[in-house]
Amino acid sequence: MRILIIGEGGRESALAAKLQKDSRVSHMFFANGNATTDKIGKNVHLSEIKELRDFAIKEKVDLTIVGPEAPLVAGLKDEFKKHDLKVFGPNQKVASLEGSKAFSKKFMQTYDIKTAKAVVFDSYPEAKEYIQTQEYPLVIKASGLAGGKGVVICETLEEAEATVHDFMIRRIYGDAGIRLVIEEHLEGFEASIIAFSNGEKLFPCIAAKDYKKVGNGDTGPNTGGMGSVAPSPEFNSEHYADFEKNILEPTVKGLKAEGFTFKGMIFFGLMITKNGTYLLEYNMRFGDPETQVLMALMENNLLDVITDCMNGKDIELKFKDEKAVCLVMCSGGYPRNIEIGFEITGEEKVRHSQLLYAGAIKKGDKVVSNGGRVLNIVATGATYDDARKKVYEDASHVHFDYGFYREDIGKF
Ligand code: ATP
Repeated sequence: MRILIIGEGGRESALAAKLQKDSRVSHMFFANGNATTDKIGKNVHLSEIKELRDFAIKEKVDLTIVGPEAPLVAGLKDEFKKHDLKVFGPNQKVASLEGSKAFSKKFMQTYDIKTAKAVVFDSYPEAKEYIQTQEYPLVIKASGLAGGKGVVICETLEEAEATVHDFMIRRIYGDAGIRLVIEEHLEGFEASIIAFSNGEKLFPCIAAKDYKKVGNGDTGPNTGGMGSVAPSPEFNSEHYADFEKNILEPTVKGLKAEGFTFKGMIFFGLMITKNGTYLLEYNMRFGDPETQVLMALMENNLLDVITDCMNGKDIELKFKDEKAVCLVMCSGGYPRNIEIGFEITGEEKVRHSQLLYAGAIKKGDKVVSNGGRVLNIVATGATYDDARKKVYEDASHVHFDYGFYREDIGKF
């Protein structure tokens, strides 16, 4: 079987490492890949959907797995389908559940999915008037994709006015910000549940926890994720029952009613408050860095799971009764201005964990940093502490100039 994985993060490395063990996989291609995928298969430098399509035809790719959201939102599946190329992921319309926050909020409201109260605005004067009447903090979201930066939690009216102006008038995120979703602020803790879809039903993995803030103790700006653990230590069976009844089941119903059947992944970004579990967002793909800890604990053969979903079969997911911790090592300055191109050393000293490269590429016989989130160190153990000790022990041997990581991942 010939597989193409699109993406270049730690998520794609984790998927590749899991699929690598399967003897049915004869070829793996990565667009654009990283220093881990370079060892597992062949990295190819392609970005346009047409280039990817031509490559998949030429290389007789049997299955394409899409990591990031942008190619799905841009219609990769639709284009591949025209050529009978199989893609694990939704078409453009269904990917709008992630690509347009206005569209997904409307879907949630239509199907009574438990979510924060929100209003959508296309008009600057109307948005400006509305925020005068609201309680603070207030959450203002650019409807389109803004690289994880399009959500602002405004503490005051002044901040809200500046944000609405930045998004709608200054257009700091271009067209992504000309439509806004303005919603009530929910107070609680977050959890991520990723589910496989076989086109009919959703099969959820165990809940994971993602560390979004750059600094220890959840301080500083948001990032793409500084680490993750699974299972989520805070998410209990009561929260799950709430999720199942008020989010998962009505989502399945809504997808069916809208004809949004797809084979791929759906990610539920959840906020658990004193009034129960709320849906913040859908992502129509594997999460990063949640995938890294889920793959470490998943007992199923990943290729079986994906092919069964592609064939519309039911699956039964099984996870080890252990804890997994993933630590993300970043370039100095991340998530703001970063410098790249520094040599990464110490991989051979990583003994107790799995080292997955993310923003790192091979240059000659060296591996050098090439992005904000450079690499992941993942381990499992009987307790969070066991897994954490392995991860931090191994991280202490890995070095690149100005590299840093949080000290408190998996510490409870
Ligand atoms: P991501 O980068 O994870 O894809 P996103 O930019 O698509 O995120 P959301 O997930 O909707 O946007 O929001 C980002 C973060 O903002 C959430 O993880 C959460 O911390 C915070 N947030 C969003 N909506 C709310 C809300 N209603 N109340 C409180 N916090 C919120």
